[in-house]
Order: sequence, then structure tokens, then C-alpha cells
Amino acid sequence: MTEILVTAGPTREHLDDVRFLSNPSTGRMGYAIAAVAAAMGHRVHLVSGPVELPTPPGVERIDVISAEDMLAASAAVFPGCSIAFFVAAVADHRPAQRVVGKPAKNLGRYSLELVQNPDIAAILGERKGDRVCVGFALESFSDAESRSAAIERARRKIVRKNFDVCVLNGPSALGGDRSEVILIAADGTVQPLPHGEKRQHARVLIERALSIASARRGHTES
Ligand code: C5P
Repeated sequence: MTEILVTAGPTREHLDDVRFLSNPSTGRMGYAIAAVAAAMGHRVHLVSGPVELPTPPGVERIDVISAEDMLAASAAVFPGCSIAFFVAAVADHRPAQRVVGKPAKNLGRYSLELVQNPDIAAILGERKGDRVCVGFALESFSDAESRSAAIERARRKIVRKNFDVCVLNGPSALGGDRSEVILIAADGTVQPLPHGEKRQHARVLIERALSIASARRGHTES
């Protein structure tokens, strides 16, 4: 049994008690990974932004709202995990200030000051030790040129965030049960997966992460 962290869903960055910035992530890919990993007998900590999905059987779900909450919850379980899947669509920015209550609406043009959110994958990636970290990138890659540019950006993300594998998702991944996926590994290998169900992709990703983890263990034990 392996202990696994999965971050999933969007984050909400509140301006006040009722208004927030967010994105349309549904959490389906992260939930599919959590569900399949738990069904395989692993212990899964699912740190989830606000989504409409039920908790998969056997999964320990920790609900969060903002990127800062998600970082705190993920950092608390990360030390006990051997594998982390960073699937959440974390908002890059949050309002510089959160106002209490619901201020009257501000009609006409106005500006909102934003500050950068913490990069959860990058921060935990710095503390990764022997753990296996898998990240995601949403890109459009309809032709050969955009595909190779997207692969190049994924490679840079692998270095920046200390990922072992970066999963390149086509835009069809947003919201649906199916997705188009290319796996880019830190060793440079590129593995396109056939267009298919997120649950099928989830199994391939978990098996890939487990095999990297066991190769790493074998290496340190010998
Ligand atoms: O840089 P970009 O947002 O494209 O990177 C996406 C990857 O980094 C995903 O794995 C996502 O979950 C993770 N991420 C994160 N915290 C952020 C931004 C992205 O964990 N603030």
C-alpha cells in the first residue's frame, strides 16, 4: 500500500464573502486518479477545491477553498506520502485584500489589485526527497508545431516544479470524462496515450508513478 496525495478541482480566491475569482475545472481528472488509486488499495489524501463530485469510496477527502488553504492542507499530508499528483487548477492570483461581508456593488469600471498565489507543486517539489511528483499542464496541441511547443513547455515545467512526469492535457480535457493526453517524463521520454476515459488514463498514470517509486526504492536499497 502506497500513500498518495492528489490535489484536485479549482480554487476560489475571494474578493469578499460572496464574490470570488475561479476557473471552470470540474475536478474530474483528480477524482478519477483518487478513485482508481483507492480501488487499487492505496491510501489516498484528496485535497479538493469546491467541486460537485461525490467523494470516491475509500478516499480521505480534505475540502479547501483557496490556493493558500490548498497549500496548507497538502503540506500537512505530503511528508507521509510517497507519490503526489498535482491535478488542481490553482488560481494563479488572488485579490490583494479580502473584504468582510458583501460590500455594495461597484458599478462602472474599476481595478482590482491581485497578488501571486503560492505554487503548491513547486513548493512541495522543493521538499520532495525520494517522492514521485506528477504534474499537469493544459495546452492546445492540434498540429505538430503546437504539439512540440507544448512538449517543450512541459519539459520546462518538469524542471521548474521538480516533476517526474508532466501530463499534457488537450483542451478537450476540460469538464468532460474523456481526455487527450501525452506523458512527458523527466528522463525525456514522450508517451502519447490513446484518446480515452479519464479513469483509463488515471490507471496508466498511477502505474507509471508506482514503477518510478519502486525503481527509486530499489536504487536506494542497493
Ligand atoms: O504553471 P502551471 O499552472 O501551468 O502548472 C500546472 C501544474 O502546477 C499543475 O500540476 C498544477 O496542479 C500545479 N500548480 C500548483 N499550484 C499553482 C499553480 C499550478 O500546484 N499555484
